[in-house]
Amino acid sequence: CGLILSISLAFLGGIASAARQGIVVKGRNHLEDLAKADTFIFDKTGTLTEGVFRVKDVRAFHMTREELLGIAAHVESYSNHPIAQSLLLEYRRQVDKRRVCRMREMPGYGVTAIFDGERVFVGNKKLMDWQGILCTEVEQSGTVLYVAIGEHYAGYIVIEDSIKEDTKDTFGYLREKCNAVLVMLTGDTESGSIPVARELEMDYAYVNLMPEDKLEHVEDFLSIQDSSERLVCVGDGINDAPILARADVGIAMGAMGAEAAIEAADVILLEDDLPRIVDAIKIAKETLKIVERNVTFALFIKGLVLVLSVIGFFSMGEAIVAEVGVMFMALLNSAWVAKYTV
Ligand code: ADP
Ligand code: MG
Repeated sequence: CGLILSISLAFLGGIASAARQGIVVKGRNHLEDLAKADTFIFDKTGTLTEGVFRVKDVRAFHMTREELLGIAAHVESYSNHPIAQSLLLEYRRQVDKRRVCRMREMPGYGVTAIFDGERVFVGNKKLMDWQGILCTEVEQSGTVLYVAIGEHYAGYIVIEDSIKEDTKDTFGYLREKCNAVLVMLTGDTESGSIPVARELEMDYAYVNLMPEDKLEHVEDFLSIQDSSERLVCVGDGINDAPILARADVGIAMGAMGAEAAIEAADVILLEDDLPRIVDAIKIAKETLKIVERNVTFALFIKGLVLVLSVIGFFSMGEAIVAEVGVMFMALLNSAWVAKYTV
C-alpha cells in the first residue's frame, strides 16, 4: 500500500500544484515526460509571437484602403485565428455579420466567405496560387495577406507581429537546464518567420508548412530520439492539433488557442505566457524528485522491517505500524508537492 500510494499521491500533488498555478496537466505520465523533455518544437504565430498584428501597409486596387480593410475584416469575422482578431481590431468599426455567409477557414492558407454576394479570399500567396488568382509576390518583411474578390486580385495587407516578451528567458532556461534543441515550425512565409527564428536563435526553423508538413517534421524528430528522450510540441492553432496529439507532450496556449489545439494537448497553459512552460517543467522535476524520495523511503523501510522481523525484532503489529508510517510520510511529501509554488 505504502509503495503504490507514495507514487500516485506524489503525482496527484504535482497535478494539483500545476493547476493552482494555471497549468492544466491531463495525466500523470505527462509530468513524467515533461521532466525528461529535451526537444521543444514551437509553432510561431500566437505561440512565440504575441499574435497581435499591426497593419504596416495596405495596397488596394480599384478601391480605397478602408474598403479593402473592411472587406477583409468582414470575411475574417468568424475566424478565431490571431490574424483575424487583429484585422478586426485594426478595422475599428463594427462588422455587419449579415453581409457575410458561408465562411470557410483553410488552415495554413487563409479564409474564404461570401461577402455581399461575392466569394472573397483572404490569405497567403499559396491560397492565391491554389485558387488560380494572378498576383505578384509582395517582397516586404512581415506577413502578407492577399485579398481576392471572385477571381480578381483586389490588393494586399502587410501585417507584423512581435515576439513575446519573455521568450528569450524561457529559451535560456530550456537550453541550460534541459539541454534543449529548439525548433520552430510555421505556416507563415520565409519573410515573416526567418527574422523571428534568427532573433530567438532557434536551432532549426521550417517555414511554409501545412498541418501535415508539421506532422512530418515532428515524426522526423521523434524517429531520431532514444528511449530516454522526450519531445514537446507547443502550439495554439487548429493546424497545430495533429502535432500536439503526436508529441510525447503537447502543450496548448489556453487563452487565445483554438479549441482543437486545447482538446489535442496534454498540458494547457491557461495564460498564454511561455515562461509557464518553465514553471510546468520545474513542477514536473520537483514531482519526480518526491516520487523517487517516496519510493526509496518506502522500499528502505519495507526492507528494514523485513530483515528485522526475520531475525525476530519485529512483530506483525509493529510491521503494520511501520507500513502506516510509510503511507503517512508519503502523504506528507505529496501534500508538500501540492503546495509547491514556482
Ligand atoms: P503558424 O503555423 O505560424 O501559427 P498558421 O499556420 O496559423 O501560422 O498560418 C499560416 C499562414 O496562413 C499565415 O501566415 C497566413 O498567411 C495564413 N492564414 C492562416 N489563417 C489565416 C486567416 N484567418 N486569415 C488570413 N490568413 C491566414
Ligand atoms: Mg499558431
